[in-house]
Amino acid sequence: MSKQERGANAKKRRRGSLFPIVLAFLMIAALAFAGGYKTGFERGNAKRRQGSSLLLVNESHPLSADYVPEELVRLYDMRHSFRLAKSDIYLTYDTYLAAQDMFAAAESENMNGYIITSGYRSYDKQAEVYAESQPGYAQKPGCSEHQTGLCFDVTVETAQGFENTPQYRWLRANAHKYGFIQRYPADKADVTGISYEPWHYRYVGADAANEMYKNSLTLEEYLGS
Ligand SMILES: [Zn+2]
Repeated sequence: MSKQERGANAKKRRRGSLFPIVLAFLMIAALAFAGGYKTGFERGNAKRRQGSSLLLVNESHPLSADYVPEELVRLYDMRHSFRLAKSDIYLTYDTYLAAQDMFAAAESENMNGYIITSGYRSYDKQAEVYAESQPGYAQKPGCSEHQTGLCFDVTVETAQGFENTPQYRWLRANAHKYGFIQRYPADKADVTGISYEPWHYRYVGADAANEMYKNSLTLEEYLGS
């Protein structure tokens, strides 16, 4: 192959690989023009203060069906100091980074065996879960915090319930240092509207998590809702 031919081929390849990007850009531009650009802040009634990690989602603050968090990452593809119950668990990038820091720290203190069982759940997925659940056991679509990509469910292999394990106690004592809160504590069901979920951890950022931990506040109380 001559130098010229190689040059022409390279150009073709470049043009080939650029085409989907250009097409995607044009489609996004057309959609934005047609629908009027809306940010996640304006979607649904979910409440957000001081940055995205403080997004409040519950029965009175639902997300709309088209809310999808930005920058979701598949945990399976990322370096992780925890186990995964399945290969298709996603979190926002910031949530992943904080979780990775936290579980790496746990590991360095010989606290091992954490298994993440659930992360981001789309509106449609939540609708499926809701339809398949007994009344009162799952959130209505739009009302699940899992649609934010800011929380995960975690457990360990145990016969006695996660809340009775040393790994649970370590999380309870340390999660706030990494920006996580136990979102549905046993004594706050009247505030959150959700009964005790020892396995559900929510990323809110280190400042908020520290303050909420110190003062035993739920996200509802912290945001004054
Ligand atoms: Zn959960």
